[in-house]
Amino acid sequence: MDVVKHVCKLLEHGVVAIFGPTSTEGAVTTRSLCNIHNVPHIDTRSDFSIDTDSNGSISFAPQPKHVSHVVKEIIKEYRWSKIAILYHEEEGLGRVKEILPMSVVEDIDMTFFPIGRNYKSVLKKLKNSGQKNVLIDCRREICIKLIDKMLELQMLRAYYRYLFLSMDVHLPVYENYSGDDVNMTILHLTNRSSSYYKNITKEWKKRTDGSELMSESALMIDAVHVVVNGVITMEETLLPVTLKCGEPHNRWHQGARLTQEILDSQYDRGLTGPMDFDDQMNRLQPRIFVSELYHEDMEQIGYWSVYSEKHLTLNPTSAIDMSNSNTANRTYIVATITETPYVMLKKVQSGVEFENNNDRYEGYCVDLLKLLAQRINFNYELNPIKSRIYGTDNGKGEWDGLIGELMNKKADLAVAPLTITYDREQVVDFSKPFMFLGITILYRVPEPQNPGVFSFLSPLAFDVWLYVVIAYLLVALSLFLLARFSPYEWYNSHPCNPEYDEVENQFSFFNCLWFSFGGLMQQGSEINPRSFSTRVLSGFWWFFSLILISSYTANLAAFLTVERMVSPIQSADDLAKQTTIEYGTLAGGSSETFFRNSKIDTYKAMWEYMSEKPGVLTVDYKEGIDRVLASNKYAFLMESTTAEYTVSQHCNNLTLIGGLLNSRGYGVGTPLGSPLRDEITKVILQLQEEDILLQLKKKWWKTDKCVQEHKNKEDANELDLSNIGGIFLVLLAGLIVGLITAVCEFVWKSRQNAEIDRKSLCGEMMAEMRFACRCNRKRRMSKTIDQSTYIPAPMYHRPSVNGNAMPLADTVA
Ligand code: ASP
Repeated sequence: MDVVKHVCKLLEHGVVAIFGPTSTEGAVTTRSLCNIHNVPHIDTRSDFSIDTDSNGSISFAPQPKHVSHVVKEIIKEYRWSKIAILYHEEEGLGRVKEILPMSVVEDIDMTFFPIGRNYKSVLKKLKNSGQKNVLIDCRREICIKLIDKMLELQMLRAYYRYLFLSMDVHLPVYENYSGDDVNMTILHLTNRSSSYYKNITKEWKKRTDGSELMSESALMIDAVHVVVNGVITMEETLLPVTLKCGEPHNRWHQGARLTQEILDSQYDRGLTGPMDFDDQMNRLQPRIFVSELYHEDMEQIGYWSVYSEKHLTLNPTSAIDMSNSNTANRTYIVATITETPYVMLKKVQSGVEFENNNDRYEGYCVDLLKLLAQRINFNYELNPIKSRIYGTDNGKGEWDGLIGELMNKKADLAVAPLTITYDREQVVDFSKPFMFLGITILYRVPEPQNPGVFSFLSPLAFDVWLYVVIAYLLVALSLFLLARFSPYEWYNSHPCNPEYDEVENQFSFFNCLWFSFGGLMQQGSEINPRSFSTRVLSGFWWFFSLILISSYTANLAAFLTVERMVSPIQSADDLAKQTTIEYGTLAGGSSETFFRNSKIDTYKAMWEYMSEKPGVLTVDYKEGIDRVLASNKYAFLMESTTAEYTVSQHCNNLTLIGGLLNSRGYGVGTPLGSPLRDEITKVILQLQEEDILLQLKKKWWKTDKCVQEHKNKEDANELDLSNIGGIFLVLLAGLIVGLITAVCEFVWKSRQNAEIDRKSLCGEMMAEMRFACRCNRKRRMSKTIDQSTYIPAPMYHRPSVNGNAMPLADTVA
């Protein structure tokens, strides 16, 4: 209402033109009143407004479509593929509507965040979304308020890139932003690098107590020049008349003429560029300048003009390719956790003062960080977090610990034994791993046990003993059967008496047992196999016995001299199956998450136990290690690299059980989108290739001492099937060969006998078979049995064990 009153007053007073006002509503009202009374209206609003209809006003600001063009070109130059668009709820998406098609044409992912009354809540949403390229489309006053809130929420940091659509957005208080290196791009209409602008600004500042010359004021200055030019070039004398508001016929007859003169006047020295207008009374050659925040000041990096060949022209020195943001010489906040041997407080000698806080720490990660800083060329402030938590998700997308620090941009880097996991990778960025590891079991070294009275059984595993007994019985039985079937094992016990027609077989079942046992004990017996098949089997059995006894003897020595350490648990499965030994892991880290999310039955069972049993999860590694050291009733599941280091410090008391339960790596964490991530990855790969990481590991993990001690204590292990399974196979081969040979012998002899007896081969074989199956070991000699088959008499008598010759008949049972 005030605007109407003001305009009416001016009209009554008699004016040749009305300038302004700067508010959208005021400008629209003024324009319609001026149109009614035919008085030129000069619109100098710089803001890219949703009120695109300038009809009736001479508009000095560039048209909205021009601003859209600049913004489009900047987005292309910045190579943004994802954009968060913050727009004012009340004004809608009017200002960016020309940019929206880029989401399809250029395949740009756009997310919209309407700004309501609560600026903080929309900024929090933006922060949690992880977006880094932000286009802000709202009036300048709102932009300035938003920036204030961004500062509060720590969003004016190097990871964000802001592009403001309104003219002349600036940081309200520069001192607050030092060191944060926010990437901020603004638009303005004045060429701030021209001497003309500088001269005028000097004068302006003098007259306005040092305030900046904004685009809007520059437009007003230009407009005054242009209108004065128009008035001067008018051929007739201007006679402003009193005009009564609300009387439409009350029009100024010279208005249209003056408007035309203003539009035709050529004025090239405008602060906002050459002043010429099209038929719609809009600027013909608008220029829009682009500035970036650099070292607490805005630096003009280029300009856009509708007529220049390449619309957006950038200074060659411009750092506009933000995908490679310059990290040099910046100071980064590095979050970490004091954990031996990664980050440790130096032992302070009295009187020694550290130059800065960073010098107070030492360790693997501290050395790594120094190398990264040297090679990438940045400064840092090491900041160990108090909570000493690595980071877990609370289920609502909020993280604590180191991950939380990165997500909330309280830290620029996290250099610590921080495990790379899928869930974490969704909310922060990780470099390539600098160390590889897995979860393992830390447990007390078991108490040594003295060899017991039955230690002679220890060299062979229980199942080997069992197989030896089975093999022994099997060989004895096979020998018995082979001997029964082989005709060459039947002999004439009285070869000198041709009338004697009884043949004998020395391999009764008990003799077979005795013969095999003698062989196994390396003692032999008086019984001698005669046929090829029984000899083959005996040979293999003796070979088997030789190897078995040699292995047993060799291992027995070790067992009798070494004190054996027997651990009640050998693997995670053992741990999961029992309840006497408690076990747990670090709370608030990736190890806990691993068990919680595991789909493997053993680990699921372990997590059930750990989550139900109070007090088994530890606050830090130290607590877990101390508990293991204190008793053998607790096992600690921890990451292998730290576990190896711990064992190296307590060789005699601690040991690692089983292998690794999983495999993962430690990486350097950065907030999402940080340009540092790629640089760090490059340096880590360099350090890996130059073996520097290996040297660092050697420097901080002094495990040699322990390896030596462990070598000295090397344990004797019982021989199991994997060690001597081969001899059982050899024996089996012997059994098979013996069996085949026995069958051959049987068939061969039956064929011979069949010829002599003039019988069929089958009949003869059946007769022989029946005979072999009879229980007695003597039989009447058939006339067909060839005397030469039988061993001559002297062979029957062989020295007995005590050296006396005795007849065979006496030795057999
Ligand atoms: N390094 C681990 C982490 O980043 C700690 C652990 O859970 O063992 O969470």
